[in-house]
Amino acid sequence: MRIARVAVPGLEHPVFGVIDGERIDLIVGSPFIDADLNYSGVVLNLSDVRLLAPVLPSKIVCVGKNYADHAAEMGGEVPAEPVIFLKPNTTVIGDGDNIVLPTQSSNVHYEAELAVVIGALAKNVDPARADEVIFGYTCANDVTARDLQNSDGQWTRAKSFDTFCPLGPWIETELEPTSLAISTELNDETKQDGNTKDLVRTAREMVAWISQVMTLVPGDVILTGTPAGVGPMVDGDVVSVTIEDIGTLTNPVVSR
Ligand code: MG
Repeated sequence: MRIARVAVPGLEHPVFGVIDGERIDLIVGSPFIDADLNYSGVVLNLSDVRLLAPVLPSKIVCVGKNYADHAAEMGGEVPAEPVIFLKPNTTVIGDGDNIVLPTQSSNVHYEAELAVVIGALAKNVDPARADEVIFGYTCANDVTARDLQNSDGQWTRAKSFDTFCPLGPWIETELEPTSLAISTELNDETKQDGNTKDLVRTAREMVAWISQVMTLVPGDVILTGTPAGVGPMVDGDVVSVTIEDIGTLTNPVVSR
């Protein structure tokens, strides 16, 4: 099932809906709060609504260096223990929204990542039971000011500018995440071409591992890491992240 969050002309607030081909079946309330989807009876053409970020997380937890080929291109190895960091939820934008280049950086990179969306309160989750707290999966771009990441000695500023976490275009709730092609296209040129089977720690393992550190709440998002091929984006570029069986997340890049 594909769940989107959309702006509907004439409606004051965003609503969720289930995508069925070129149509969207609107639901009442939040799929993260209500156990059963409550269909409103309103079905619209997808072309008549605007896709928004499919979730507004309370926090975004990211895994660093979780593909060996990316760790190598960054001049390092896969760490013995997972390395995680946070992006603030104010980084989130949706499909079609602009990535705004900050004036403080001259080297802003794309990072295509499989994103896990949490569906239940999760604390000390057994890896074998991770699916019980996973709502679904979406595409993410872990936009990074690479120069600031290197100069600051830690990653908070580099990862946290507004618009630095495109998510979408929707959440796929029925997905086997272990072997999916994942790619980045920059102006239609393929820049990253990986597969989630090369994740050092799987999405499920990372959900369990992170839940040993902090409580995850419904709607929280985990970015699982990026494969090799990261590189810069400049004003006027269009960047797309595509994950097999989910879809394509596309964002224009603009100067502030
Ligand atoms: Mg990343």
